Amino acid sequence: MHLERRVLITGGAGFLGSHLAERLLADGCQVLCVDNFYTGTRRNIEHLIGEKHFELMRHDVCQPLFVEVDEIYNLACPASPIHYQRNPVQTTKTSVLGAINMLGLAKRTRAKIFQASTSEVYGDPSVHPQTEDYWGNVNPIGPRSCYDEGKRCAETLFFDYQRQHAMEIKVARFFNTYGPRTHPNDGRVVSSFIVQALTNRPITIFGEGQQTRSFCYVDDLVDGVVRLMNTAPDVSGPMNLGNPGEFTIAELATQVIALTNSRSEIVNRPLPQDDPKQRCPDISQAKAVLGWAPRVALTEGLKKTIVYFEEMISAGLVQRVTEPV
Ligand code: NAD
Ligand code: UDP
Repeated sequence: MHLERRVLITGGAGFLGSHLAERLLADGCQVLCVDNFYTGTRRNIEHLIGEKHFELMRHDVCQPLFVEVDEIYNLACPASPIHYQRNPVQTTKTSVLGAINMLGLAKRTRAKIFQASTSEVYGDPSVHPQTEDYWGNVNPIGPRSCYDEGKRCAETLFFDYQRQHAMEIKVARFFNTYGPRTHPNDGRVVSSFIVQALTNRPITIFGEGQQTRSFCYVDDLVDGVVRLMNTAPDVSGPMNLGNPGEFTIAELATQVIALTNSRSEIVNRPLPQDDPKQRCPDISQAKAVLGWAPRVALTEGLKKTIVYFEEMISAGLVQRVTEPV
């Protein structure tokens, strides 16, 4: 007889997975973290190893997994453009085969299953802000497609499993999320700018920096994820989770330079192909259904993230400063 919920987190050694693991342990769950360490590290969860209710397993979700669980959070997938484009075939496999394997596991164990989808399903959007009923503007054959189409196919699988097998599914579309434990070298804009600023290296703005993003602090996102997982069975999403505060990349660079007192200069680099021009979530659904809205303002979240990277740099854990590849 299990009193605690047995929860599986795939991608549990990654940025978001490690924060989610902490939150679920604090909520009294037994947490099984599965990861192949492609972009995640043991360092992200080493403070949890040895905790009575925490277990770590090295495993690739492209392979079937046989464990007994009550809930599954499927987060396994590289998230930064540099990482997901390094081995695009593996990225699609992780999204599609990973979804099939985790849905199969959920079906056998009758577990409730959550999918970490993404604002990238909207591609370079022509609707602004993005609402969940917008079908998106995605290039199916470009360098970002392995991620975008992989995640879109995973959503299809989730809703087909629900229709075909009457399963309880939850699908959230995360918008850009940042905070401690983002990989220092994965090229995502917040971590890149902070590391560049702290080391007084040039801040690399792609294009003119007029493209926009909306940045959500990790604690806010994790709270939204857990709320969605705990809603009534008929609430499946897809549901946007993100912070609707919208900033240009140039504004982000200015804020990071000011908060770090950096001497960094700004340099412009070519805009990557298919880089979305505007991105901002409409979170009316999450507000109405979950009673959720982000609380951490960008400045506050940046300050916390800067402290983390200062510690990483002093500990010699940031090997090189990101430059576009
Ligand atoms: P991350 O790269 O830090 O974490 C992903 C984790 O998945 C890593 O630990 C990695 O090793 C693991 N992984 C990758 N392929 C795997 C495989 N085949 N088998 C097992 N483990 C595998 O990225 P993150 O930011 O923590 O993202 C987590 C999830 O949230 C991803 O699914 C991502 O697509 C989604 N998401 C994140 C953001 C964001 O802004 N952070 C935005 C939208 C969606
Ligand atoms: N970007 C940038 N400089 C960098 C890294 C990223 O100007 O060093 C830009 C990138 O072109 C995009 C935005 O910042 O317009 C967000 O990029 P990120 O890779 O973080 O995530 P995306 O939202 O594109 O998936």
